[in-house]
Amino acid sequence: MMMFPRKEIVDRIKKDYPEGTRVELVSMDDPYSKIPEGTRGTVRCVDDTGTIFVNWDNGSGLGIVYGEDSCRKITECPICKKIYSGHPALSRKDNKTLICPDCGTREALESAGVPKDEQEEIIDTIHKGV
Ligand SMILES: [Zn+2]
Repeated sequence: MMMFPRKEIVDRIKKDYPEGTRVELVSMDDPYSKIPEGTRGTVRCVDDTGTIFVNWDNGSGLGIVYGEDSCRKITECPICKKIYSGHPALSRKDNKTLICPDCGTREALESAGVPKDEQEEIIDTIHKGV
């Protein structure tokens, strides 16, 4: 017998995981599922039982069942696909895409005419925290 979460919880899940949210699988309580932990995907929808349906990057469409499986939201850079933390940068290309701070720096240097290998050197230096 499956326990369905209360409506308030389902509403909360829907609010937290709108369509298009990028998520990473933490665990799936299904021995037959072929989705390894850490797989990333994009939220398709949340149904009225609180199940989050995800288009996983490996092609699977399995849902995250409330109370049994778990996933977490990730902030993934659309350019370099890295997960990043901290404040995103706004892409200069369209002024609306949020990208990671590194790609933000790259775009800024690019527009200043800095060559690619020099861009990477500068980003390395930033990471080392001089
Ligand atoms: Zn990036």
